[in-house]
Amino acid sequence: MLNYGFLPLVLAVSVFAPIGCDGGDDTGGLDGRDKDVVRQDIQSIDLALDLAALTGRAALVVVPGEGKVTLDVAGLDVSAVTLDGASVEPDILDGTLTVSTPGATDAVTVGVDYAFTARTPMTFDGWMPLLGVTFVWPYYCSNLFPCDPSMDDGVTFTMDVTGVEDGMTAVYPTSTYGDGPTYIAAVAVGEYTKLDLGVTTAGTSLSAWYLGDGLDDAEEGTAHLVDAFDYFEQTYGPYNFGPVAGTVEVDWGADSWGGMEHHPFVHVGKFDFNDEEAQVHEAGHGWFGDGVRIACWEDFVLSEGTTTYIAARALEQVDGPSEWAYYVDDFLVPICEDSSRDPTLVNTIVLPDTCNEIDFVNDDLWSITPYMKGACFYEEVADVIGQDELDVVLSEFYTTHVGQAARMQDMVDLIEERAPETDRAAIEALVDDWLLSFDCPENYAARCRTHGN
Ligand SMILES: [Zn+2]
Repeated sequence: MLNYGFLPLVLAVSVFAPIGCDGGDDTGGLDGRDKDVVRQDIQSIDLALDLAALTGRAALVVVPGEGKVTLDVAGLDVSAVTLDGASVEPDILDGTLTVSTPGATDAVTVGVDYAFTARTPMTFDGWMPLLGVTFVWPYYCSNLFPCDPSMDDGVTFTMDVTGVEDGMTAVYPTSTYGDGPTYIAAVAVGEYTKLDLGVTTAGTSLSAWYLGDGLDDAEEGTAHLVDAFDYFEQTYGPYNFGPVAGTVEVDWGADSWGGMEHHPFVHVGKFDFNDEEAQVHEAGHGWFGDGVRIACWEDFVLSEGTTTYIAARALEQVDGPSEWAYYVDDFLVPICEDSSRDPTLVNTIVLPDTCNEIDFVNDDLWSITPYMKGACFYEEVADVIGQDELDVVLSEFYTTHVGQAARMQDMVDLIEERAPETDRAAIEALVDDWLLSFDCPENYAARCRTHGN
């Protein structure tokens, strides 16, 4: 995600928060379950959406937990439920569908037929026919399909979309191939033209889908995308979301800035489709954010700080533009000087010491601050241990945790473990300065902007 303009929209839809998202509910909410209880594992969701009829059919392969499968269906009108093909009576309480699976220890298949509601640009999360795009970040999956929005359960999607108007193209992956966060699934519908961008050394084929006469924007924004994607693959590890990937121009109305990490086909807002940083940032989420999920919303910096850093790193390495002046002048300075009235540029501690206890979309952590303080943390770690050496640590972290959820503290620990003994005190000071302090460190702008080695 790199869209600070979304703040009011996300706030506006927060009344639709599905059960379990506000935490503290130990009676049935998906996030309220006892941490010691054996959790269910949704392995895959096969999703068939009819965008004309506003109906869906989902087949979820799930390893049950505690003799049942529980699914968030808060935004759906469920018409039929099956368990391994046999019809069962829907048991829905407070937006949670429970399917009893007595005796089942292996995966079962839960089928759900349902209707969903068309959302408007104001209510946002879900399918928005006026904009031709779905959006379920951060935990509004149940506005579009039955799911478990909690981050520790990754899922692989297969998708089929029908009910598309003549002359329009629906862009979506038939498979996401690897486990990612539940919000990874998306479809965009519009008058798209596909631009082939090329193939990486590892064989990943990249394309851009642009709207209308957007060819110039597409070419400008993706000028270094194949090379940057190649850098990610060669430096951090194999891409986890299949042999074909790309970027899709989307219309988010007045807030069509930034993008959303719907790998393998990321969405980038129409105002930023010509922006190389936005394009490479969303690609980078294939490694951090989607490839390695965050375990808690408090780990947002692991997704956004890391991705902001590797986007600038990759662009520099492939002779693209430098993004550090942009990061520092446009974002970090207003954050640190408290000089902006923009609520997305509010200063905050970017690594809180809790896990899924904050009300994320109403917390200051949902701001640009984790992006920039996080990127500056990595930039200064690179100044201490070396940029190539930091890349080696990022690669080890990615290959260790890909397809799983991880915490920012795991990253900090690995950096400290792999750093030379003589650098550890300096790294601990950077953790304090950038991740654990409210105030920005002295000389923050010069420190973040300047590459030591
Ligand atoms: Zn992002």
